[in-house]
Amino acid sequence: MANLKENENEFPVLYLIVPCYNEREMLPETNKQLGALLSMMITNHVIDSKSRIVYVDDGSEDGTWGLIEKFHQKSEIVNGVKLAGNSGHQSALVAGLTIAKEYANVMITIDADLQDDIHAIPTMIDKYREGCDIVYGVRSSRKSDSFLKRNSALTFYKIMFYLGAKSIYNHADFRLMSKRAVEQLLLYRERNLFLRGIVPLIGYRSEQIYYERKERLAGKSKYSFAKMLNFATDGITSFSVKPIRLIFNLGLVFIFIAICILVYVLHAYFRGNTMPGWSSLILSMWFIGGCVLVGLGIVGEYIGKIYLEVKDRPRYVIEKELK
Ligand code: UDP
Ligand code: MG
Repeated sequence: MANLKENENEFPVLYLIVPCYNEREMLPETNKQLGALLSMMITNHVIDSKSRIVYVDDGSEDGTWGLIEKFHQKSEIVNGVKLAGNSGHQSALVAGLTIAKEYANVMITIDADLQDDIHAIPTMIDKYREGCDIVYGVRSSRKSDSFLKRNSALTFYKIMFYLGAKSIYNHADFRLMSKRAVEQLLLYRERNLFLRGIVPLIGYRSEQIYYERKERLAGKSKYSFAKMLNFATDGITSFSVKPIRLIFNLGLVFIFIAICILVYVLHAYFRGNTMPGWSSLILSMWFIGGCVLVGLGIVGEYIGKIYLEVKDRPRYVIEKELK
């Protein structure tokens, strides 16, 4: 890293990567604030004048791309990428990083809704200049999130921790990565990308900085409850095979219980006081049936993932690029 900084340029070229899905209401304000910040940092010689903002339009249907084109015409610091369909937040980030790493020394991903504090960006750059390859933006509180979101997120982090994935508590996707960290990240060729879990695996020097997470200024959250649930399931099943083992262990427990019941039944039989056990029969039928289905569902989830990986499809398709 030191080499790159000394030889290439004195000031790093920074690319801000902003995924946008139906963010028409938010984008003018976002562009104003990010543009001002980037210009200020360029003027103050914190970053190189070749630094850019890259908006990644994740298949928006509300005219977001038109806005991005307008910003690009008005200002040379704005670039844009339009994905051909809605590939999801994580894939939009990967698309942006893949393009940006060709030009940038350092990249920061930030959501379009400015819930993350953009004033943390200069601090992130300072950490980079001190030699960090990855700087995580961590929310110091979740006051601005709804009760449901806060608690579902907490449960999710706990489950992830229990399952052994090294994700960082209260860190979303507001993060600085150096060029070599991004290159390393892109070597993880899996389709089911869960950046929060993968980035800590890279292992370069990293640090965390704290900021207050704000409320969304305009527009609605693009993560519906269903999307959040999908995201969490993806996160867990992409990182851990523990659920399969859990099923296996549960199976052992069931067999043990069955043996106990068998002993009881034989005992009752030989003492001659068997009763017509319709209720217990029907109950266990449903219970075991349910367990089998749950088990099959979990196994199916992994098979589905293998299926997707084997197909080796591209993660996104770029329709247009503004440079
Ligand atoms: N986003 C995206 N594709 C999607 C969903 C979301 O690119 O399918 C973007 C969205 O425009 C925003 C960021 O991902 O910039 C985070 O989404 P949001 O703020 O709605 O999520 P929340 O903060 O509510 O978790
Ligand atoms: Mg948000």
